[in-house]
Amino acid sequence: MASAKYIFVTGGVTSSLGKGIISASLGKLLQARGYNVTIQKFDPYINIDPGTLNPYEHGECFVTDDGAETDLDLGHYERFLNSPTSQANNVTTGRIYNNVITKERKGEYLGKTVQVVPHITDEIKRNIYQLGESGEFDFVITEIGGCVGDIESLPFIEAVRQVKWDVGINNFLVIHLTLIPYLSAAKELKTKPTQHSVKQLLEAGIQPDILVCRSERHLPQDIRKKLALFCNVHINSVIEALDAETIYDVPILMRKEKLAERVLSKLKISNKEEPNLDQWKTFLGKLKNPTDEVEIGLVGKYVELPDAYKSIVESFIHAGAYNECKVNLHWISSESITSDNAKELLGELDGVLVAPGFGERGVPGKIEAIKYVRENNIPFFGICLGMQCSVIEFSRNVLKIKDASSTEIDPKTKNPVIDLMEDQKKVTDMGGTMRLGAYPCKLKKGSKVYGVYGKQNISERHRHRYEFNNKYLEAIEKAGMKATGINPETGLVEIVELVDHPWFIGTQYHPELKSTVLNPHPLFVKFIEAAIVKKKS
Ligand code: GLN
Repeated sequence: MASAKYIFVTGGVTSSLGKGIISASLGKLLQARGYNVTIQKFDPYINIDPGTLNPYEHGECFVTDDGAETDLDLGHYERFLNSPTSQANNVTTGRIYNNVITKERKGEYLGKTVQVVPHITDEIKRNIYQLGESGEFDFVITEIGGCVGDIESLPFIEAVRQVKWDVGINNFLVIHLTLIPYLSAAKELKTKPTQHSVKQLLEAGIQPDILVCRSERHLPQDIRKKLALFCNVHINSVIEALDAETIYDVPILMRKEKLAERVLSKLKISNKEEPNLDQWKTFLGKLKNPTDEVEIGLVGKYVELPDAYKSIVESFIHAGAYNECKVNLHWISSESITSDNAKELLGELDGVLVAPGFGERGVPGKIEAIKYVRENNIPFFGICLGMQCSVIEFSRNVLKIKDASSTEIDPKTKNPVIDLMEDQKKVTDMGGTMRLGAYPCKLKKGSKVYGVYGKQNISERHRHRYEFNNKYLEAIEKAGMKATGINPETGLVEIVELVDHPWFIGTQYHPELKSTVLNPHPLFVKFIEAAIVKKKS
């Protein structure tokens, strides 16, 4: 296709309707017809990025190869499309304003009053077209965070209105995601909230082309007719989106509702080809028909909010399906674990993952959990802070360095087995200053991880400040914990593993950020395999 087509996904009635999953599913359906697709998200908050947000506020912070700290929806885009995103795929109000104000200071608007329209809206559009004009994509799907009518999203909605005039009606489409509630007292599905939210869009000058209606019940023909009539859309453009058993069913449900066909016909693209969803369906078949079942403990600080560990949870789904194994996750609050209850909490598990995190809260419990699984040969997988805790535990309990710690947890420790690198010591700003994004790692031949990856040179994504302290490397290795993955440029330790243990691996990087449906991460795949072996032993 000559130039990119722009599809916008807005939301109405309530938040949390799953715009990210609908966008990713549409992306998947277009990709399955051979198109190149990218998905972008605009977040209407003032933070420059979600890197400084507490996971309780906003769930996991997803990190891209280029080191952008982004919204967790980008994780869904990557997992569905199996292609990487970048900073350009997530833009916040804060970033837009920051760019405009920086340009103003440089004198780029000299003589002009800088205003929301056109300067802020132009900057928003520049960020939209940047992806479209790269020449890489047939479709740019842009998800507008928040709900129509929110004060914060107004400039984005205004920019969308303008895009239609810039690119022409055949290159522009708006999908509005809305909720059709069922009132059990009246035994009726209600269309009024949707009518109102479409009215709000119309007030902003935008006529949605397609309505995607989240609902607990099927939308009967008369409800579809009513929605079409009152919202000014074709009846075929009223798409039902029922609650799904798994998010991975949504592309199939959208296929049945012919969402992509509607998009293509509205954009005047004739494509008679059937989408190729064979691999996707194979994955779903395995996911839904497991032959094995394992119990995995997820030890973390934010267990009340599963979104804080979104990518880890999804990686387990991918790896479970690959192994045709149902993975039952047991959420264990790290603060609740002590030496007295470790056996009771962890004794029956087939594997334990100790999660990433920041700060000292929950660290003692993570260390207790690691001691228990190390001594009891339960498969262990430590990610980032989880890996760092495994080094602390090993130093304290095997090397008998009783005060071994990380300077993040105990800044005065005499034995900082985990410490800040020199360049991090000078850092004072908190935003965007961690070791972020993809870094190379070289695996030691003959190690367990070498077997897991089946190759020597890998690249994985990072998000942390502290590192393994190489002053302790020799002593730690001698005692049986090996550094089996090293950054070839800096010599930093990226992976540790235990020699005398069935499966004990800690990674300084975040493998969960690279697992996708079609490419489950090998570390998660092999960890589940080890848990199956443990269960059967
Ligand atoms: N808090 C640790 C650090 O900054 C680990 C970070 C993480 O687990 N993502 O190094």
